[in-house]
Amino acid sequence: MVKIKFEYKILISYLLVGGLWVSFSDRLVQCFILDSDYLTKVQTYKGWFYVLVTGVLFYFLLKKHLIKIRNAEKKARESDLLKSAFLQNISHEIRTPMNGIVGFAGLLKENNLTKNQKEMYLNIITKSSDQLLSVVNDVLDVSLIDSGNVIINKTQFHLNEFLDQIYSAHGTILRKDISLQLNNTLSGFAHVVFTDKVKLGQILDNLISNAIKYTPTGLIEFGCEMKEDQLLFFVKDSGIGIAPEYHEKIFDRFHRAEIEITKTIGGVGLGLAICKGNVNLLDGDIWVESNLGIGSKFYFTIPGNFVVLEITENEKEDSKSILNPGCVLVAEDEEYNFLYISRLLTDAGIDFLRATNGQEAVDICRNNSNLGIILMDIKMPILNGYEAVKIIRGFNRKIPIIAQTAFVIGNEKKKALDIGCNDYIAKPFKRVELLDKIKKNIR
Ligand code: ADP
Repeated sequence: MVKIKFEYKILISYLLVGGLWVSFSDRLVQCFILDSDYLTKVQTYKGWFYVLVTGVLFYFLLKKHLIKIRNAEKKARESDLLKSAFLQNISHEIRTPMNGIVGFAGLLKENNLTKNQKEMYLNIITKSSDQLLSVVNDVLDVSLIDSGNVIINKTQFHLNEFLDQIYSAHGTILRKDISLQLNNTLSGFAHVVFTDKVKLGQILDNLISNAIKYTPTGLIEFGCEMKEDQLLFFVKDSGIGIAPEYHEKIFDRFHRAEIEITKTIGGVGLGLAICKGNVNLLDGDIWVESNLGIGSKFYFTIPGNFVVLEITENEKEDSKSILNPGCVLVAEDEEYNFLYISRLLTDAGIDFLRATNGQEAVDICRNNSNLGIILMDIKMPILNGYEAVKIIRGFNRKIPIIAQTAFVIGNEKKKALDIGCNDYIAKPFKRVELLDKIKKNIR
């Protein structure tokens, strides 16, 4: 349908009403009124009547239009403020850990450091790197959710074991003045759920990290219960709390509750937006109940898809087995990345060969029958990882290939799997993540 501009709408209505009025009202009046004095008076009233009707008409048309404009203006102003607050926050959140990394890396070069000092500096560098990576991940996650590019990968797992793992992971890094409690009303082995474990973990991790961040001292509880056919998770803290007017807004990206104390606590306002995006992808809901100064209780639901999981004897044996993948082919052109991977493999007692481009990877794979697994970088010279995998799959369909790449936006994982890789690991990865992937994929 053609959209008529507002100024044309006004002009058309003015001409139409005026034209109809002039054409018909005079004739109508002359039919009924014959006295010329009376006719003049009536025509004056008629004029006023016209002014009144057009005035009222224009008032309502303009009012509707102005409300629309004012709302759009308000939204634009809010979004401008949010954007500049976000830029300030993100700059702060990037520069702070960068400062730690650059500063302490420089100090490490000094000769007269004690072993303890070195360990402390390395610890700071590691923590700052993790902090930096988590900011980058948050920004990427939000853009993936916004563009609808998140793929849900549902698997079966024991819910109670999973909650215990989350508890242990946070329990070890708690501050002294905070305690964490797991209140799980679901117990026993019957509770095996079918959902995306990684996403569920991300949501809980985020809510618990926030609870720790916004609770100066006190208790944090989390857990899960069954509510009708839904699994209801909660994370409760005795922290600074959130004023009622922010209970909905904080789930929108870049929104932070505007109290002095939150301004002094780091954050870019993306964590809850990611939680909400992930909960919605799992077909659930998320909300908060909170009072300023008293604490907050975040809830979220996901469908309670319980299944009975049978663990076979082989799987039990598998989980106990020692890591022995045979010779690993590391296809990696970047020197530092290769040094890192080679160190992890050497420490785990695993033999390896290196290819510095896709063509070399293909050749080594063709000529070495003792290869157990391939770690394939994607961005490499001569032949990239995807092309190399395609060729390798032409003559060897069995060898497990794990794509390892820093391309984490878009459907990179799906693309790698579609092309013939068995698994995917995103850089940067930790020792345990790489070894777990290898363990999972060896024949
Ligand atoms: P960030 O923590 O990086 O600012 P989030 O999206 O995780 O971003 O949270 C948005 C806002 O919600 C926070 O800035 C804070 O004001 C408020 N908030 C979140 N969790 C809590 C909590 N447990 N207690 C108090 N306020 C919270």
